[in-house]
Amino acid sequence: MQLTPGAGRFAPSPSGDLHVGNLRTAVLAWLFARSTGRAFLLRVEDLDRVRARAEQRQLADLAALGLDWDGPVERQSERGPLYLDALARLQAAGLVFECFCTRRDIAGAASAPHGSVATYPGTCRHLTDAERDDRRRQRPPALRLRAGGGPVTVHDALNGDYTGPADDVVLRRNDGAVAYNLAVVVDDAAQGIDQVVRGDDLLPSSPAQARLARLLGLPPVGYAHVPLALGRAGRRLAKRDGAVTLTDLAATGVVPATVRDVILDSLGLPAGPLTHALAAFDPGALPRAPWTVTAETFAARIS
Ligand code: GLU
Repeated sequence: MQLTPGAGRFAPSPSGDLHVGNLRTAVLAWLFARSTGRAFLLRVEDLDRVRARAEQRQLADLAALGLDWDGPVERQSERGPLYLDALARLQAAGLVFECFCTRRDIAGAASAPHGSVATYPGTCRHLTDAERDDRRRQRPPALRLRAGGGPVTVHDALNGDYTGPADDVVLRRNDGAVAYNLAVVVDDAAQGIDQVVRGDDLLPSSPAQARLARLLGLPPVGYAHVPLALGRAGRRLAKRDGAVTLTDLAATGVVPATVRDVILDSLGLPAGPLTHALAAFDPGALPRAPWTVTAETFAARIS
């Protein structure tokens, strides 16, 4: 095993229970980190969409699968000064502008060629002082990065080189909350994370995050965006697909060790304690297609 300083991480949003697709991503993040001698950190992304007790339940579910992590769990809600400091540095460098657009303004002005990332059409980038004063009377501004510079290419261990727009991302929303893209970049650097393993729905966000890190003078991270789990009709797995959380599955007689084994099987890895999977883990041999989860996926395993 090659020993590497640095760390990998899993960074769930505590918006509800993790489903088996989220759990599979967590297992992969753990395998990537541990197989390279990295620390494995947990970060709770609780800047919005927080549901009561979701964090405790998520951590308990990760532990029930056999995952362990290093150091205390970090919470974004406790790291505000770090984000504001980064924002102030960007502002001092002239890299921030006020944006008064609504979601609808942006959706109406631009198509989104790259999945979920709606390209910002630049509407507020060049407002005059007078126009800005006028707009401020109508609604509070969001703050956006003056990104500039065209598309960015990132390297991904599973997807190869990925080139996408590195947009004028929102840094602070117009309700004053720090935005995901800023928090994630600041946190990864502050926590010494150099390996980002997460669902491939976030691959289109990585060029903008890589540029933001560079503009903040932060070190680049390596990426591995892993295939998502799909449910009914090939759509992204969700609660409506039935028993897809550990709690729901336990109620149907499927214990956590069985869920772990089903997840490992879907990755072509040996069942049993995660140490066995770790010994056999080879990123190059991972399936590249999404994992389809149906009622039958677990039905045969009811004990
Ligand atoms: N908190 C995000 C989510 O649960 C993940 C962000 C990331 O891994 O960069 O989808």
